[in-house]
Amino acid sequence: MNSSTPIKRIAIFGSTGSIGTQTLEVIASNPDLFSAEILTANNNDDLLIEQAIKFNPNIVVIGDEKKYIKVKEALAGTDVKVFSGDKALEEVAAMDCYDMMLAAIVGYAGLRPTLKAIDNGKAIALANKETLVVAGDIIMKKAVENRVPIIPVDSEHSAIFQCLVGETRNRIEKIILTASGGPFIGRKPNYLVNVKREHALQHPNWTMGAKITIDSATLMNKGLEMIEAKWLFNLKPEQVDVVIHPQSIIHSMVQFEDGSIKAQMGLPDMKLPIQYALAFPKRIANDFPRMDFKKVSTLSFEEPDVKTFRNLALAQLALNKAGNLPCIMNAANEIAVFAFLRNRINFLDMTDVIEKSMDAIPFIENPTLEEYFESDGEARNFAADLIKL
Ligand code: NAD
Ligand code: MG
Repeated sequence: MNSSTPIKRIAIFGSTGSIGTQTLEVIASNPDLFSAEILTANNNDDLLIEQAIKFNPNIVVIGDEKKYIKVKEALAGTDVKVFSGDKALEEVAAMDCYDMMLAAIVGYAGLRPTLKAIDNGKAIALANKETLVVAGDIIMKKAVENRVPIIPVDSEHSAIFQCLVGETRNRIEKIILTASGGPFIGRKPNYLVNVKREHALQHPNWTMGAKITIDSATLMNKGLEMIEAKWLFNLKPEQVDVVIHPQSIIHSMVQFEDGSIKAQMGLPDMKLPIQYALAFPKRIANDFPRMDFKKVSTLSFEEPDVKTFRNLALAQLALNKAGNLPCIMNAANEIAVFAFLRNRINFLDMTDVIEKSMDAIPFIENPTLEEYFESDGEARNFAADLIKL
């Protein structure tokens, strides 16, 4: 990039997480291209302080208000402004001090700050897939109205996005999302019923936050990604396909109307899609490990087992029926995963909680934003009651 390119000012919402910390690595490697202007964390005050001292952002937000004083005092000798609480997340999302939000908060909590950023014309690099699952129609409509680009960070969607560069006039027949299958690929319910949290947290190919790691083990992650893809690429449900590809080398594919298929490949490393989203439309050089085809002996593919991993079938239903059903599914899933991580329910119970919630909460075909918020709350309460949380 030439020296006249202005530095892109990045706000990382969820800077202490897996995506957030990797985004800071990308920024640290490219100080002439990017600066970190806003950093936010829910409760990891020590890491947030460390990041603020290293990157000297304009603003930090610590979600947990009890930790405000500690963060404020630790940064007293700096220019960093410190805020706290959920409302502050939305307020700083509207501020002028940044150009692009890297939306890396996990779950529904990422929705409101991202909406605020879009309303204020900020470009979005989107890791937080739940935002599109909950209210994809509203998010995409607002993005168009505000001329805000939404660039995917999720590796599959980044792959599709990369395959579509230069193809704006060409019709997509379908997209093929690849799924590693997670640690329990090939397993049956009699095995899964006894799976413990520690085991489910061991993903074969990726190191990620706890929630998405469990979602990957149940295949809910792929279900969320199907819905995410529908909104990002304006597809019909039947144009979104999933195939299990255990090596995670092909990150996803696009099949065009002439039958030609484009795939994006590489070693599994989230820094690549993060860097691509930050720098788009440019690619930037890096020294990440390269893939060597002479050493990769097999790329294999198989059909997902939706009879065993029923979350994927539920997500397919939510994708087809749309309305508030994906929002309800997402809320119940967040409660179920939370309960599983606390050893309150077993691995298969998670699906039952989600299915019952999807049956119980009234369906709304064209929800308003308020109705999405309400459906989320109702589904959370219903799921928590079922589990007796
Ligand atoms: P993580 O758990 O490692 O980090 C989550 C971040 O969000 C942390 O900084 C945390 O402080 C913050 N946070 C959590 N709850 C919050 C709340 N209630 N309010 C405000 N902040 C809160 O998660 P992650 O693995 O980095 O994933 C982040 C998002 O990116 C998820 O939506 C996930 O699906 C998506 N994603 C992650 C990966 C990956 O490799 N980790 C890949 C693709 C997509
Ligand atoms: Mg993904």
